[in-house]
Amino acid sequence: MIKKKVIMLGSFAVGKTSLVQRYVNSIFSEKYQTTIGVKIDQKKVDVDGEDVNLLIWDIHGEDDYQKINPTYLVGTSGCFLVIDGTRKASMEVGIELISLATKIAPLAKIIILINKFDLKEEWDITDGDIEHLKEMGYEVFLTSAKENHSVDDAFSNLAIKMLNS
Ligand code: GDP
Ligand code: MG
Repeated sequence: MIKKKVIMLGSFAVGKTSLVQRYVNSIFSEKYQTTIGVKIDQKKVDVDGEDVNLLIWDIHGEDDYQKINPTYLVGTSGCFLVIDGTRKASMEVGIELISLATKIAPLAKIIILINKFDLKEEWDITDGDIEHLKEMGYEVFLTSAKENHSVDDAFSNLAIKMLNS
C-alpha cells in the first residue's frame, strides 16, 4: 500500500492534536493536553479507488515559535499549517513555519487550515487575511475540530494532492 507522511505544523494550542483526533478517532476534547515529543497516527484514505495509508505526525510545540526539529520534516509528502482563527499571532508564526517547511521539504504539498470555525464570531483573522494567504498560492480550509467542519475534506484534499504529484 502507498504510504504518505503528513505533518501537522502550527503554533501551540491552534488545534493540531484535536484535528488529528477528530479525523482519526472521531473524537474531540475541550481539555488541552500538551503533546509530548511526536505522536504518529495512521489512517487509510481512498483516493480514486486507491488505498493510501496516511502517517500523520503530530508534534509538540514548546512555545509560540514551536521549535520543531527540522529532521521531523524529512520525508514529508504533505503538511497542514494550522492557524487559530481567534489568534492572529498564530498566523504570523504559521507563515514562518511554512518557510522552514519549504526549505527542508520543498516538494511537500501544503494546505492551510484556519481552525476553530465554530468560534467565527471571535475570529481576529479577517477575510482579507484569508485572501492574502490564497494570493500566496495556498489552498485554505476553514475547519472546526470541535464541530467536525471540513476536517475530512481537508485530509482527502491533501491526499489527492500528494498522490497526483
Ligand atoms: P495543539 O497544541 O495545536 O495540538 O492544540 P490542541 O488540539 O491541543 O487544542 C488546543 C485547545 O483548543 C484545546 O482546548 C482544544 O479543545 C481547543 N480546540 C481545538 N480545536 C478546536 C475547535 O475547532 N474549536 C474550538 N472551539 N476549540 C478547539
Ligand atoms: Mg498538540
